[in-house]
Amino acid sequence: MTTQEYEKNIKRVIITEEEIAAAIKEAGKKIDAMYDGHPILLVSVLKGAFVFMADICRAVTVPCEIGFMCAKSYYNGTESAGVVKITMDLDRDNKDYHVIIVEDIVDTGRTLNDLCRMLCARNPRSLRVITLLDKPSRRIVDFKPDLSLFTIPDYFVIGYGLDCAEYYRNLPYIAEYNECKDCDKK
Ligand code: 5GP
Repeated sequence: MTTQEYEKNIKRVIITEEEIAAAIKEAGKKIDAMYDGHPILLVSVLKGAFVFMADICRAVTVPCEIGFMCAKSYYNGTESAGVVKITMDLDRDNKDYHVIIVEDIVDTGRTLNDLCRMLCARNPRSLRVITLLDKPSRRIVDFKPDLSLFTIPDYFVIGYGLDCAEYYRNLPYIAEYNECKDCDKK
């Protein structure tokens, strides 16, 4: 892809760097208030949430550990329940931890629905989900994150960790993508 093509595919910025920073600051305060000094384990779902994780973990002041997972979901047709396959698991047992899953975007809700079931079965002290973006109009399973920073319409978005065919993760803002020929995520 040429630089011109790369830039042409960024249709328009929908959430600026400043808006993201302000929302993360607020979210950090909410997390601090929720856990009131109790230690937490932030679990990021790679790769899309890696930038959000880096910022949200620095916005909380409660004692905080971090962990990373990779998950892929497999479904057939319109079936609402599926199987999430963990391609990289946490490097510790989440039993007895106050766990917060840190996600980039909730779309159909399938991945997080499955992931929550899976982590719940490991007996955490509590389990919550924070997501940077939420696209409720695309929901297939009944899933509601505990904390969502921005609700967006049904756009395919890139930037701030979110990719199209592995590009654009390093954009500091969230943008709508122009076209997505090579992308199989939507
Ligand atoms: P769900 O199981 O909720 O349908 O899938 C969520 C995952 O789909 C996200 O973690 C993300 O990887 C991908 N996804 C959903 N919508 C978008 C989008 O607008 N842009 C990008 N880059 N990925 C998306």
